[in-house]
Amino acid sequence: MITTDILDSNITYLPGVGPKRAELLNKELSIYNFRDLLYYFPYKYIDRTKYYKIEELDPDLPLVQIKGFIRGYSTEGHGKGKRLTADFQDETGTIKLVWFKGTKWISGNYPPGPEYVIFGKPGVFNGIINIIHPEIEASDKLTERISSALQAQYSTTEKLKDNFLTSKNISKLAGNLLKQLKLKLPETLPSWIVKHYGLMELDQALRKIHFPSGPEELEKARYRLKFEELFYIQLNLIRFKTNRSLKNKGFIFSTVGTYFNSFYNNNLPFRLTEAQKKVMKEIRRDLGSGKQMNRLLQGDVGSGKTLVALMSMLIAIDNGYQACIMAPTEILANQHYQTISALLRGIDIKVCLLTGSSKKADRKIIAESLLDRSLNILIGTHALIEDNVRFSNLGLVIIDEQHRFGVEQRSRLWQKNLHPPHVLVMTATPIPRTLAMTLYGDLDVSVIDELPPGRVPVKTMHFNDRERNKVFGFVRNQIREGRQVYFVYPLIKESETMDYKDLEDGWDTISRVFPSPEYCISILHGKMAPADKERSMKLFKDGHAQILVATTVIEVGVDVPNASVMVIESAERFGLSQLHQLRGRVGRGADQSYCILMSSDKLSKEALKRLEVMIRSSDGFEIAETDLQLRGPGDIEGTQQSGIPFDLKISNLARDGQLIEYVRRIAEGIMNTDPTLSDTKNAVLVMELRRLFSLKQSWSNIS
Ligand code: ADP
Ligand code: MG
Repeated sequence: MITTDILDSNITYLPGVGPKRAELLNKELSIYNFRDLLYYFPYKYIDRTKYYKIEELDPDLPLVQIKGFIRGYSTEGHGKGKRLTADFQDETGTIKLVWFKGTKWISGNYPPGPEYVIFGKPGVFNGIINIIHPEIEASDKLTERISSALQAQYSTTEKLKDNFLTSKNISKLAGNLLKQLKLKLPETLPSWIVKHYGLMELDQALRKIHFPSGPEELEKARYRLKFEELFYIQLNLIRFKTNRSLKNKGFIFSTVGTYFNSFYNNNLPFRLTEAQKKVMKEIRRDLGSGKQMNRLLQGDVGSGKTLVALMSMLIAIDNGYQACIMAPTEILANQHYQTISALLRGIDIKVCLLTGSSKKADRKIIAESLLDRSLNILIGTHALIEDNVRFSNLGLVIIDEQHRFGVEQRSRLWQKNLHPPHVLVMTATPIPRTLAMTLYGDLDVSVIDELPPGRVPVKTMHFNDRERNKVFGFVRNQIREGRQVYFVYPLIKESETMDYKDLEDGWDTISRVFPSPEYCISILHGKMAPADKERSMKLFKDGHAQILVATTVIEVGVDVPNASVMVIESAERFGLSQLHQLRGRVGRGADQSYCILMSSDKLSKEALKRLEVMIRSSDGFEIAETDLQLRGPGDIEGTQQSGIPFDLKISNLARDGQLIEYVRRIAEGIMNTDPTLSDTKNAVLVMELRRLFSLKQSWSNIS
């Protein structure tokens, strides 16, 4: 079907644009056609019925509007600082208006005399309040032009402003466009949805979002557009999930047999927590259902996910299948291998480890035993997804710390079988519920929301750099009591060289304060060869080294129960979820543990808030929620590879949680009653899904 949709017209053809401005709009705002401009929404609105008096002005105010008179122009400064200024006066005082550009035009068109309305951001220079490049218009003309009390403000850039594409002029372009669109814009939601949920029609919403006549109308327009944006994201996720389960038959793991039972009865070192039991039930239900499992297991650090993973694998083995775990680092894969081998002692199950540093001979053995089915569990890193690793009957794939993997890596593991295996992805980065609904909206979610009993909560403290000696004293006492200590340095990709310098300097200081032979210090960072890493880790694990100086490579999974102090250097540079992960490395034994956040004494408000949350809360979900509110969804780990293929234009994953849940339920209802979306009343849905997502299907989550 060919449609000639006026909204697809090139933006060049809009009155007031032309080739040069079109190019700028392309480059600066990604506006290519009429639709892009129509959906370039204002970021805020200014109440143009409100006027300030000059005596009320101060430089902290946002944009203000004032009525008054120009008392005369003068030229000040030289060269680049050369500017036109005007004294602007109302009955309460005088301010300066300043122009660096377009000065002739200003003084020519706005002579002293009539009353003007000016609009801009107050600043201050030499103790006098000024406004640089204000909008200016004669009072009588203004009342004519402004039909709406709420004036839309659009974000713009310096380049655009240089070419007169100010917020005001973008607004004019939007006005020109709406005038061109004489016919009512076609609905992008089925009419039954618009009616049933009391939504404003699309045509109205798009007109009113640019030119609202009042706050109520604006709210309705915004709601309609947010509803639609979030609804299609959810509908797409749920449609994807539904299609997958219609298409993929899952292996049926019907029995819980000898392996599982003998582990449960003889080897399980402790009672499962209620949360672990609940999650096992959910997984068992999936595995026996005949549908392919795609489940996300969320559980805070130390909540015991490994055990859940192992028991799930035992069910696979009981049913004659192989299972594998993929972990993001060698250290972690190694540790899983050791933990799991130890837990399976005395049970006849073959477990192997495959990482980048596995020897050729070992690889050969692994390859053979995968094919002759004698190998039951393969644990490894990215090495698992190499083409030459072939399973003969892979039934269950477990991905640990899944946010560390790219979407593509995950799906490659999944493709290791003709038949899709069951998939369990685990994460210790708690994701707020509504965010998870969008990021992992096509997965079922299980949560371990309880820690094993007997854990003493970690005490968290904050010190600044000048209190370093106090911290060293504290560390010394802890070591005297037989404890071990981590010092962690940030490692941000962009400033890697500087970060390694910090690490080296830190190491120097620490080795001076804790000299050998009394103390033994181990070091661990990403640039070390695997064998060296292993040696360092072992030194610390076996208790020979009292101190481990490291970068964030230790963030995931490292388990040394005797370590009771985590010192995090430059803590202000870490994200909250990272701090929380790091803190999770201590508090694993029975003793009181401590997390010490070191920072400079000059902190931004936001950084201070983040550190405060760490001190106050040990609940990963609360911390993640705060992170989301403070930094927005873009900065949350894992968002970059999310299932959202385009920028959100109007909704906000941090603030619109309730609406997300609401539209998700609506989308689920629709997919339940019309799983193939073939009902004619839903035809619009299919069209829109195709338009919004067709080219972008490859982002789709792990399967
Ligand atoms: P994570 O969820 O962070 O992967 P782990 O699986 O590494 O957590 O478990 C953390 C620690 O808790 C391990 O030492 C593990 O043996 C222990 N653990 C797990 N489940 C229980 C339980 N039900 N009771 C007591 N300790 C447990
Ligand atoms: Mg773990």
